[in-house]
Amino acid sequence: MSYPVTLIPGDGTGPEITEATRRVLEATGVPFTWHVQEAGLAVLEREGSILPPRVLDSIRHTRVALKGPITTPIGKGMRSANVTLRKTLDLYANVRPAKSFPGLRSRYSNIDLIIVRENTEDLYAGIEFQRGSPDLHELIDWLGERTSIHLDYDAAISIKYISAAASRRIVRFAFDYAVANKRRKVTAVHKANIMRYSDGLFLSVAQEVAREYPQIQFEDRIVDNMCMQLVQKPEQYDVLVLPNLYGDILSDLSAGLIGGLGVAPGANIGKDYAVFEPVHGSAPKYAGQNKVNPMAMMFSGALMLRHLGERAAAERLEGALAAVIAEGRNVTYDLKPTPDDKTAVGTSQVADAVIAKLKHGTAGK
Ligand code: NAD
Repeated sequence: MSYPVTLIPGDGTGPEITEATRRVLEATGVPFTWHVQEAGLAVLEREGSILPPRVLDSIRHTRVALKGPITTPIGKGMRSANVTLRKTLDLYANVRPAKSFPGLRSRYSNIDLIIVRENTEDLYAGIEFQRGSPDLHELIDWLGERTSIHLDYDAAISIKYISAAASRRIVRFAFDYAVANKRRKVTAVHKANIMRYSDGLFLSVAQEVAREYPQIQFEDRIVDNMCMQLVQKPEQYDVLVLPNLYGDILSDLSAGLIGGLGVAPGANIGKDYAVFEPVHGSAPKYAGQNKVNPMAMMFSGALMLRHLGERAAAERLEGALAAVIAEGRNVTYDLKPTPDDKTAVGTSQVADAVIAKLKHGTAGK
């Protein structure tokens, strides 16, 4: 039996890293039937949408997708394809592991963090009021009449929406993940001292859920303090659960702790569907140059293998990636001592090196 998987190459450098990842996944010997679905800027020009409905239909059919990054045109009033995908398919949990590997250039060698980010609400819920719009005026008038809040019309408003239900399911997801993966502690991250109602709700729900898992340690941290702690003593943390915006920011911070976006994978998981993608964006300035690191997407592919129950193949792939990183020879510019290092190889050569490790069985030991 082969696994049907929707493959979304994305745009910018997405198609190159997607092709490299498809090759290494096939080299694990696990059979896939790829349902390739184009999305992104070129598709916007052709089909009038950056994420046409056929892409979502395909994922509804296969239930699993591997996705390259998609550019969000800034200031054109366009909703990010990534946010739309996560919201439409209710992919409520964004899981972003950050793990040190020997050979990665980083100030730290002992990072092993799992960021569990709520993916559907918070400031990303898309509840926004544009400066000068009738809706903004109406909202400001309503606030003026009904509350003691008087705002300037020359403004814009984004609403932070946090529900008890979404907080509960993301915190449960983090604890269930901790149990299933033998992790010891969950830390809830918030700013409940300032946003007493929205973040306060997230925190109180987290405390409530934590009582259902007495075998897992629980604590909470205020987000600014958490940033400092992660830089000073990251080894003290294990699984972090966060509302959407803090999760987005802290997962990039964690990627920085392990050696950069080039090796940071991600999974978007819901009740019915799962989409695997690197944390990084489309890096458009390098598009078509066979230059950027495909490893973040390859590690995302390993997360997908685990999700499909192919644990041994996932471990072999991660072992092959770790071996290539440790040797430091067949790696892209971002993993070399300096970005202009002449010995850096291209995207497809990294795939060749990982496939060689998989084929010669030196991986996963
Ligand atoms: P980016 O992640 O594309 O790039 C940030 C920096 O990291 C750049 O210097 C880039 O060259 C470098 N970089 C990124 N990926 C790399 C890789 N694989 N190997 C080596 N270096 C790499 O972030 P950005 O410039 O803020 O975003 C570009 C576009 O991507 C934006 O339109 C943004 O909205 C979109 N984006 C998409 C996703 C997604 O599809 N999930 C995620 C983040 C950003």
